[in-house]
Amino acid sequence: MYGYGGNILRINLSTGEIKKQPLDEVMAREWVGQRGFIAKILWDELKPGIDPLGPENKLIMSTGPLAGTLVPAGGKVSFGAKSPATGIYGESCVGGHIAAEMKYAGYDVIILEGQASRPSYIYINDDQVEIKDAAHLWGKGAIQTEKALKDELGEEFQICTIGPAGEKLVKYACISHDFGRQAGRTGMGTVMGSKNIKAIAIYGSKSIPLADLPATVAKAKEMLQGCFAKENLNEWQDYGTAGVPCWANSIGAFPTRNFQSSYLEGNETLDGKLMRQKMLVTDKGCFGCPSPCGKYCYVPGYDVYVEGPEYETTALIGGSCVFTDIEKVGYLNYLCDELGLDTISAGNVIGFAMECYEKGVITKEQVGREIKFGDVESFKFLVEQIVARQGIGHILAEGVKYAAEQFGGDSIKYAIQVKGLEWSGYESRSAPSNMLAYMTCDLGAHHSRAWSVTHDIAVGRKVLEGKAKKVVDLQHIRPFFDLIGCCRLQWVEIGFELEHYPEVCRLVTGFDYSQEELMQISEKVWNLTRAFAWREIADFGRQYDYPPARFYEEAVTTGPNAGDFIPKEHLDKLLDDYYQLRGWDKNGLPTKEKLNSLGLQFVVEELLKQGRKL
Ligand code: SF4
Repeated sequence: MYGYGGNILRINLSTGEIKKQPLDEVMAREWVGQRGFIAKILWDELKPGIDPLGPENKLIMSTGPLAGTLVPAGGKVSFGAKSPATGIYGESCVGGHIAAEMKYAGYDVIILEGQASRPSYIYINDDQVEIKDAAHLWGKGAIQTEKALKDELGEEFQICTIGPAGEKLVKYACISHDFGRQAGRTGMGTVMGSKNIKAIAIYGSKSIPLADLPATVAKAKEMLQGCFAKENLNEWQDYGTAGVPCWANSIGAFPTRNFQSSYLEGNETLDGKLMRQKMLVTDKGCFGCPSPCGKYCYVPGYDVYVEGPEYETTALIGGSCVFTDIEKVGYLNYLCDELGLDTISAGNVIGFAMECYEKGVITKEQVGREIKFGDVESFKFLVEQIVARQGIGHILAEGVKYAAEQFGGDSIKYAIQVKGLEWSGYESRSAPSNMLAYMTCDLGAHHSRAWSVTHDIAVGRKVLEGKAKKVVDLQHIRPFFDLIGCCRLQWVEIGFELEHYPEVCRLVTGFDYSQEELMQISEKVWNLTRAFAWREIADFGRQYDYPPARFYEEAVTTGPNAGDFIPKEHLDKLLDDYYQLRGWDKNGLPTKEKLNSLGLQFVVEELLKQGRKL
């Protein structure tokens, strides 16, 4: 088969059995790769209602057909499992170099099943696969562990790891790779920790067969030249997403004081130019990237190195927890990275705790000390309590939704989440389409599937017409990149044309994909993951798509959008439009007709078996 490593590697951690299965060609054609494979395997192989942290859950690592080829930015891999953060479908992707290495070792999918009886790591050297002892690594930081394993195994190994947060089953633990990149969201590091797996180390030396090698070389060259010719390439490379905080503040979208506001006084201190001047050591990119956005920094004053801070980290730590000093944000970013915490959820949880303390929902006695916005020691104390699961940290380790349920009172309004996943870094009371995008994301309130703040600005922030259509379109296009193993940021950030990808998919795989078909596969996966949530939760539907009441009951306190909130009837209109466009019922559930039209008859049968009414 062309474009693929050709194998699924299945490792049963309970029994020690390791099996290599050929990748089925029909599966490859119909589900493409990466997120498509993950969603299909989780649907087929997980029993509904399992404990996400029990041996029945499976952690799936999968990449797509373009990964490891010479197609620009083909370096993405996703991790998926039933999420311990949300209880529904979970998935998160990361760049770096491990996707390519996995393909060179001959694997498109690695499935970790069961639970190791002691701390272990997975060693993959082409066909040699072992479950090795990791007692000497347990307790180490995520980045320290990567360094230690590189020293032990050799620089040529590509490694992903978890930190102490994953070991302690903090619900928003991430999987780390390439010294500071993370598959951050939905607790994939937590699932890895629950399986007693500290790291996965891969070396591969094989080649990937391509359907049309000369034409792929020519197309890849054309794509590279196309990227290099883009006008804003240099600016993107200079700052990456670190160039965004000042713009987000200027339009009133920068989450501030746990989303009480969308404008942070002093935000100019978080500017990417300043970060570059004060902290940059080197630019850094993923495998085959023509537009490297990584910024590897030294944080003076704290004497630590960190990749970043990127936009989302600056928004949730800098904005939501109110730090107007890029060095402080850099240091707290380093702390989260080493502990193995998703900075989006960690910043969100700590901002939430700071607001609860300020408003008297939690007391000094409960917390164990005073905490306040903008105080490094407060953040550090809370993050350490969370990872140690001590005191109030034991509650906060479960995420804002759970913490609010425990704290009670108004705190449910301060828990900025959807479906149990903490909200990403755009305050969206003045951006209805972006609000809808985060409300309806299949993973919870996450920016990866659709982001549309610029659309709201372009067509009018109060306008509701057409917003649902924009969101649906984006929810097919952006996650399409998570089928093929490619970074989407060339398309999103430098305007590289989408039309190149179906053609290069055909040249690499030999499958005669059209753009329409690839988008339809993306839509099929979207419906499958929605159905996954319904299979897990009997009363799943519309009620799970609302944002916290803060967004429709409280106005933004300061900045250009002061006074704005989004009335609940506007949210209902957006949801009605969205469900209709998707062919779902008024409760937001996929209909039998829709599922059948996408070739998901097996989903209909399974849902009926589970007693769902279609
Ligand atoms: Fe990696 Fe950034 Fe390049 Fe995407 S744009 S491949 S995230 S370095």
